[in-house]
Amino acid sequence: MTETTRTYDVIVIGGGPVGENVAERARAAGLSAVIVERELLGGECSFWACDPSKALLRPVVARADASRIPGLDPAVAGPLDVAAVLAHRDRMSSYWKDEDQVDWLNSVSVDLVRGHGRLTGPKQVAVHTPEGDTIALTARHAVAISTGSRAALPPISGLDTVRPWTSREATSADQVPGRLAVVGGGVVAVEMATAWQALGSQVTMLVREHGLLDRMEPFAGELVTDGLRAAGVDIRFDTTVTALAREGGEVRMTLSDGGQLAADEILLATGRAPQTRDVGLETVGLTPGDWLTVDDTFRVTGVDGSWLYAVGDVNGRALMTHQGKYQARIAGAVIGARAKGEPVDDAPWGAHAATADHAAVPQVVFTTPEVAAVGLTSREAERSGRRIAVVDYDLAQVAGAHQYGADYRGWARMLVDTDRDTVVGVTFAGPGVGELVHSATIAVAGEVPLDRLWHAVPAFPTLGEVWLRLLETHRG
Ligand SMILES: Cc1cc2nc3c(=O)[nH]c(=O)nc-3n(C[C@H](O)[C@H](O)[C@H](O)COP(=O)(O)OP(=O)(O)OC[C@H]3O[C@@H](n4cnc5c(N)ncnc54)[C@H](O)[C@@H]3O)c2cc1C
Repeated sequence: MTETTRTYDVIVIGGGPVGENVAERARAAGLSAVIVERELLGGECSFWACDPSKALLRPVVARADASRIPGLDPAVAGPLDVAAVLAHRDRMSSYWKDEDQVDWLNSVSVDLVRGHGRLTGPKQVAVHTPEGDTIALTARHAVAISTGSRAALPPISGLDTVRPWTSREATSADQVPGRLAVVGGGVVAVEMATAWQALGSQVTMLVREHGLLDRMEPFAGELVTDGLRAAGVDIRFDTTVTALAREGGEVRMTLSDGGQLAADEILLATGRAPQTRDVGLETVGLTPGDWLTVDDTFRVTGVDGSWLYAVGDVNGRALMTHQGKYQARIAGAVIGARAKGEPVDDAPWGAHAATADHAAVPQVVFTTPEVAAVGLTSREAERSGRRIAVVDYDLAQVAGAHQYGADYRGWARMLVDTDRDTVVGVTFAGPGVGELVHSATIAVAGEVPLDRLWHAVPAFPTLGEVWLRLLETHRG
């Protein structure tokens, strides 16, 4: 066992998509940087979340789209080629190897230390390497914690006996379970139910709430419910699992209504928890296991001296890769500015303030149909106390939807702040809406006045014409 000591301007603990970007932006600002990663460089997103899940879903969504096209529908009538889909997923997950990401890190001149990183005090990090060595790192300017999140498991009696799937197994499994129970009704639950039902499982969803995707506009969850049920998924609302056991190779569940259910595997998609239990938070006066609260420049609240940052999932602001990478761009730049004594522009929408985290977080749910949303929902708008006009339009009435496929079903909602005459929230649900989300993000983040939006002409015949219809509806 050897001990070594190294000094960098910036130390990043956690080499997921967010940590990688913090380090790269710090380098771009002229600072030296090192990433500490205990598993695979690229993190959850590359290997057990975004990339594998979307690889599993892409054939399902493409087949649903093709099945609506006269002349093409017979070609996609059969089952998916499971082996080919799983091989595609494996390729998109780089076969769970991170050489390409290591090459990229080398190309941007950021060092990598493999091992488990823990704070040992202000600006101090100890890394325990797989070889049993300890490397002591000192930061001249900043330490960024980007250790991400993990699946949060509910306290169900018998849980420790059943080896449940979490999002990790749901995205990396190489066998299709005959029967899969999915506990939860959020994004991971609906996406994985969509994928595994299409791959041949009989999926049963056990949903505590009264609908799916309950943080989004209700019509989104309703359309996704219809899509899943049409695909054969058994969805049970207002249902929790009270006890679990694995017997004779199957998982036996006791449900809140007293009923029993058996499945070959059970996926717990019941939320996320921060990976902060073992990063040495106690050495700087913080509580292990907590989400890390930050200001808009990502400095951790309650720690003096502008040296500790928390970026990405671990701060709990918006658990999505694109938003975490946005945070990383801002954190890297602000760390650079503070290190060089340059002015920090942390006014709303300034270069060093993550204002979009509060106003314009985009999200796409890759189900059949898709959901795309940004900004406020009508429920959130109501709570915010603003004066809001809710503008609805039936997406199926848009010419682009007629071209998109027969029997198109979809819905669009735009929220207008009537005092400022700008769009503060948009939700689309329907086939093909995922690619509409950035138009909505520009409208919301840009605070584009409706009078100017009126001049943004959508091409005919695209789904984007829904913008024109929403504006016309609003103008009456
Ligand atoms: C099933 C699923 C699908 C998803 N799909 C999407 C999607 O389509 N689009 C999207 O935008 N988001 C998606 N997400 C969310 C996305 O995966 C996360 O928001 C993203 O991975 C967060 O990035 P991060 O860098 O903050 O954390 P992570 O990706 O979790 O990376 C954290 C890294 O830190 C490392 N680490 C942790 N502790 C230590 C330590 N003490 N020392 C050293 N290393 C440590 C971990 O090994 C890991 O590599 C999905 C999530 C799930 C679960």
